[in-house]
Amino acid sequence: MSNRSPIIIGAGPAGLTAGLELVSRGVAPRLFEASGHVGGLARTPCVDGWRVDPGGHRFFTRSEAVLDVWRSLLPADQWVAVARRSAMLVDGHHVRYPLIGRDLLTQLGFRSGLYGLGALGWARLRRRTRRRAAPESFRDWGIGEFGRHWYEIFFEGYVRKTWLAEPDDLTSDWANQRIRPIRWRDTDGAAARDVFRYPRLGPGQLWEAAAAALTDNGVALSLNSPVVSLRSGSGGWTVELENGQTASGDAVFSSMPLRVLVEALEPEPPEHIRAAAAALKHRALITVGVALATRHELPFNWVYTPGRDVRVGRIQNYTRWSPHLSPAHWRGTHLGLEYFTNSDGDLWAADDESMARIVEADLRALGIGDAVERIMFVRSPFAYPVYGPDRMDSVALIREYLRTHHPSLRPMGRNGMHHYDNQDHAMLSAMGSVARYFGEDADPWRVNSELRYQESGLLKM
Ligand SMILES: Cc1cc2nc3c(=O)[nH]c(=O)nc-3n(C[C@H](O)[C@H](O)[C@H](O)COP(=O)(O)OP(=O)(O)OC[C@H]3O[C@@H](n4cnc5c(N)ncnc54)[C@H](O)[C@@H]3O)c2cc1C
Repeated sequence: MSNRSPIIIGAGPAGLTAGLELVSRGVAPRLFEASGHVGGLARTPCVDGWRVDPGGHRFFTRSEAVLDVWRSLLPADQWVAVARRSAMLVDGHHVRYPLIGRDLLTQLGFRSGLYGLGALGWARLRRRTRRRAAPESFRDWGIGEFGRHWYEIFFEGYVRKTWLAEPDDLTSDWANQRIRPIRWRDTDGAAARDVFRYPRLGPGQLWEAAAAALTDNGVALSLNSPVVSLRSGSGGWTVELENGQTASGDAVFSSMPLRVLVEALEPEPPEHIRAAAAALKHRALITVGVALATRHELPFNWVYTPGRDVRVGRIQNYTRWSPHLSPAHWRGTHLGLEYFTNSDGDLWAADDESMARIVEADLRALGIGDAVERIMFVRSPFAYPVYGPDRMDSVALIREYLRTHHPSLRPMGRNGMHHYDNQDHAMLSAMGSVARYFGEDADPWRVNSELRYQESGLLKM
């Protein structure tokens, strides 16, 4: 091993990937993780054989390098193939998502279908003849893409519920990447091909394997070790943990939220940089694992619930993700209910008992309110980096400040760069950060910066 001594903050996909990359280049980093587990947002908490995937993590990528890491960590028999099936629950109908033209014209009634088609035609005409504002608001983008009628039915309520903001106040850059256009042709063929891989015990299985590979290679991985301050000096960095212990290194790879990183820097960055960091907001997520005694044959992995009648925003049907997320004997229904909230919201403040009452009310409203056998709460305070209108400028300011004043401090990953990343993006930014550490010409900030929808050309495992 070399005499380099990098420090990694966070044992999520980005931090663990940075660790693996460093080890493969003969460098043993020290890794500090705030929580008691590895995997970050892609962890899989397990109690008595019940596993909760906080997000429903689909594994897909366009990068061979990412695929190689996944394959090297888990043998083929530890992956299951999952057919992607999602729906939106609207007025009691499960409308397949990505939206399919044929369903839109028939499923919500003939009049609604016709009205939707007219509104779409009108929106497309307007889009062709009008100059678009940059950046475009989510609402304008949605109406242009789906027409007002279908936008209002499927996206407005959902976005309000999940982003906790008015669609007019959100930019559309993430939407271009994340929301699929309506499919008008070859729908059955396309659906049949939409199969992805998933670790049989949930995403955390992969990241636990990554952590084991690191410790086998002599990497010190400390759990329950939040980094509370980072001090730069002539010899490199000293990070301080919550318990007062310190560690020193020649570089820091950080996947802690960018805002918190700036707050933790010593000496304090200038006022305008702290103000830019303070403007970066997150949404929190509470995922509630629920086991119901009755078997409900729900033919979807995800169901989006945009309606105001329930507080839940999306439901995972774990039974369809992997049967191994439930104990072997289980024959009922195992769901994951996702509640999106702010860290000062009433849901975030709710204790388990109050949260259980909200969940039970939602299940009743959804018509599946039979005996709840098991309930488990998984809270993620930094689940989504919010894309407000100032995000790009704030991030650019901080990035430039770090580049010029702290070149050996390397932000990476979803919250680390305040970027709406999937696991593979978080991994690629970690790989790029390590490449730069070795003087290579890589720019981790360019990962996941394409504006168009990202799933064409996906590689299969
Ligand atoms: C609802 C939802 C659904 C998702 N679905 C998918 C999907 O289908 N497919 C997909 O690929 N991705 C999906 N993702 C995204 C995926 O979870 C993230 O891209 C990925 O986990 C990001 O990895 P990361 O290491 O950058 O960040 P994180 O996973 O957030 O890990 C960061 C780690 O740093 C730790 N940390 C923070 N602060 C400190 C500190 N001060 N000191 C020490 N440690 C610290 C945290 O505890 C955490 O463990 C989803 C995410 C959500 C929320």
